[in-house]
Amino acid sequence: MRRQFYHIKLGRVKDFLIPLQKICYKIFVDNKKFRRIIYSMNRQRQFYVDSQTNKIWETLSESYPRLIRFNPPKIKLCNRLYRTAGKCYQEENLIHLANKFFVNNSAEMFRTILPHEIAHQADFVLFGESEKKCGHGLQWQKIMVQLGLPANKYHSMTL
Ligand SMILES: [Zn+2]
Repeated sequence: MRRQFYHIKLGRVKDFLIPLQKICYKIFVDNKKFRRIIYSMNRQRQFYVDSQTNKIWETLSESYPRLIRFNPPKIKLCNRLYRTAGKCYQEENLIHLANKFFVNNSAEMFRTILPHEIAHQADFVLFGESEKKCGHGLQWQKIMVQLGLPANKYHSMTL
């Protein structure tokens, strides 16, 4: 009697466990697929951002020949940037762009935010003005005009 009872119980556990195992496996596989898609998306985005950066730097070099001596800034697509769409670390020649903003505002990121941050870097290497002292000073504004962009400090994007 006892054995039979045990058997039934074990059967029930199996009934429960096997579908659960299947669900877990499906989630695992889907997650892997999902991660692969995200990975290739990020790589593609990084590629476009880098080529765009080189283009902007070249365009600026026509107006400011001294820029040729400097490397264009490295762009990092940052997942931990929430409050600002972009940040320029001028001493490190590094720009962080918020990966999140690309989801709904990809065009805006390429058209406005990336040139805005590159203008900060160009401003720094050409005129030595740091973001903290005079981030959006006269020279920075001139660089923005050279890029054919309004010299706005802020953007109007929503996440
Ligand atoms: Zn700025």
